[in-house]
Amino acid sequence: MFKKVLIANRGEIALRIIRACKELSIPTVAIHSEADATGLYVRKADEACLVGPGPIEGYLNIYRIIDLAKQKGVDAIHPGYGFLAENPEFAQACQESGLTFIGPPAAAMRAMGDKVSARQKMKEIGVPIVPGLIEPIASLNDAVRFADEIGYPVMLKASAGGGGRGLRICKDREDLKRHFPIAQTEAKASFGKEAVYLEKYIHAPRHIEFQILADQEGNVIHLGERDCSIQRRHQKLIEIAPSLLLDERLRREMGEAAIAAARSVGYTSAGTVEFLVDSSRRYYFLEMNTRIQVEHTVTEEITGVDLVKEMIRIAAGRPISIPQSQVFLRGHAIECRINAEDPQKNFIPTPGKITAYSSPGGIGIRIDGNVYAGYVVPPYYDSLLAKLTVRARTWDGAVQRMRRALDEYVIRGVKTSIPFYKRIMEDPDFQTGHFDTTYIDSHLDKLNVAADYFRMDKMLAIAAAIAAHSKR
Ligand code: ADP
Ligand code: ADP
Ligand code: MG
Repeated sequence: MFKKVLIANRGEIALRIIRACKELSIPTVAIHSEADATGLYVRKADEACLVGPGPIEGYLNIYRIIDLAKQKGVDAIHPGYGFLAENPEFAQACQESGLTFIGPPAAAMRAMGDKVSARQKMKEIGVPIVPGLIEPIASLNDAVRFADEIGYPVMLKASAGGGGRGLRICKDREDLKRHFPIAQTEAKASFGKEAVYLEKYIHAPRHIEFQILADQEGNVIHLGERDCSIQRRHQKLIEIAPSLLLDERLRREMGEAAIAAARSVGYTSAGTVEFLVDSSRRYYFLEMNTRIQVEHTVTEEITGVDLVKEMIRIAAGRPISIPQSQVFLRGHAIECRINAEDPQKNFIPTPGKITAYSSPGGIGIRIDGNVYAGYVVPPYYDSLLAKLTVRARTWDGAVQRMRRALDEYVIRGVKTSIPFYKRIMEDPDFQTGHFDTTYIDSHLDKLNVAADYFRMDKMLAIAAAIAAHSKR
């Protein structure tokens, strides 16, 4: 096993990895920016070092991180999610410096990191993909010709996109003509690659993803699925496991497709294969995330498998600790991403000082957080404060438990998404499993995000118009 692990990340996921290392008796090194010096994860690591004064650059500085790892006598690096987690150059640089990257091989990351090449691969092996192109679009003419062929609405996507960014719905030809040049420029600016492509926009789908584990001995298993349909702006807010939609037959079929996807690129470590499922229960490969996912906790709760420990064991050359035949999905789990944001103001981030903090407890409750009373939430990062995960024997039990846990949760000083989640737990549509990816947008009134949601959009449009005007 490893002598010492450096965590090339921050926030709740850094603490999650520290916890796995502690159980494996591996000392840890945390890295932090000046803004993160007071983070809970920094206190919980065995050692911590400043990775750079600026808020972001340090976490992305491959050579500085590898240097620190060497100075500290580290032999493996866990990248968490975001930042360098899906960067094949980082994985390769670790390897070339004699450090183990706790994640998939660089080649597998390359093959899946790009949505277009991932779609090509899936087509080759016979996994159904969302209907659309398997090559980047060369020109607006091509885009229009192809969209006319598959029919509107279509979705324009950045091939290197992620985190819900770089996606544009085009309801007609005019939309497409308007969005296409902006999408290309934006893709280049945000993801470093101009490549965009087109997919059929699936009407009100469910987002269902499969957790897989693959080791260096060639074992690949899946740990069931998560339903991540509750999203705002294509970003997940609530995730549940198992899905209420799948039966055993569909679960087996999609699980096998996920395993085939992983095998096709020589994958090792933990990974997630995302699918959309339409109203006729047809499924389509969406993308593969080659990292630990934010919502891995719900899978852990229903399978009892510690995914981060498995990643570490696999990276150290050990086999997966359970065979497929021993994976059972027990009960139901729900995760709410407790964000510092204001759902009544278009989910605008609300950084600031947490003046009081008291987390829920009791049967079936799990908190993965990075906060405490007195902590100042920095404005530079995503707004995730903590993940609240509950587990219960039945779906109804899990919903009631989440309602109770949200009631107990006290976070003062900054606005959070807690009141918003309470409303969702009270909603009969959610309670009876009637939700898809359009849920939040179609329940704005019920969830009390209506008025400001639209006003905010209007304000943004006006601000954009003023900005565009002043540039001339
Ligand atoms: P998950 O599927 O695990 O929920 P998210 O899409 O919410 O993942 O992303 C997890 C984290 O990674 C977020 O902080 C998100 O901003 C970041 N992220 C994911 N992909 C990218 C990307 N291509 N570029 C920048 N950030 C990304
Ligand atoms: P990201 O890399 O940002 O996670 P994804 O391709 O995984 O992007 O899509 C994120 C979300 O956007 C999906 O969960 C779904 O809600 C929506 N989405 C993506 N593609 C489509 C599509 N073709 N039709 C309908 N919704 C889509
Ligand atoms: Mg995705």
